[in-house]
Amino acid sequence: MIRDNDLLSWTQVSWAYKLLVLGIMKMTDAYIGFGANIGDSVQQIFDAKQQLLIRSGCVEPELSAFYLSSPVGYSDQPYFVNAVLRCSVSISSIELLNLMQAIEVDLGRVRDANNRNAPRTIDLDILLYGNQVIESPRLVVPHPRMFERRFVLEPLREVLNDNHALRRSVIESCYALRNCNDQILHPIQC
Ligand code: AMP
Repeated sequence: MIRDNDLLSWTQVSWAYKLLVLGIMKMTDAYIGFGANIGDSVQQIFDAKQQLLIRSGCVEPELSAFYLSSPVGYSDQPYFVNAVLRCSVSISSIELLNLMQAIEVDLGRVRDANNRNAPRTIDLDILLYGNQVIESPRLVVPHPRMFERRFVLEPLREVLNDNHALRRSVIESCYALRNCNDQILHPIQC
């Protein structure tokens, strides 16, 4: 005879499944920054996120709030819209970068080789890839400029895992940058 407490609860089964998937697939939490300041920036970020979810096969996505930020570096251009996505991926960091660059092109991004701070329809950056430190010719993680940019750190801290090795540094840098007059940031309703 089977008694009630012989049966695994649904919660236990779903946790067992998650652990199995994470173990087999070697999932990594990736943190992806979005920025746009030409055209319908909010819609472009939603489109990029949707493409990323479909084409990367990631799971458990969490998107931060959207923020309006003053341009950094080259100031004679419209304000940016920024957001950060956390999601669990089974693809490598380089595969993720390749995919993000393909999505940028598909959504109409044209690079200005002479100005890395030029206006753009959409920009995707890998901010963090698990706790990994990567220094290759095409990819540097943690993103080399993220600790100087409030528009990256504020949305990042919203979605950053509690146990991430850089959590404390991210929060402390956020507080420090709140005093910078040239890094204006407003949350926006979408
Ligand atoms: P951007 O103009 O900001 O989109 O910069 C893109 C260039 O930065 C590409 O050539 C990438 O290979 C390189 N890159 C280096 N590290 C990263 C990163 N963490 N995320 C995105 N692009 C990166």
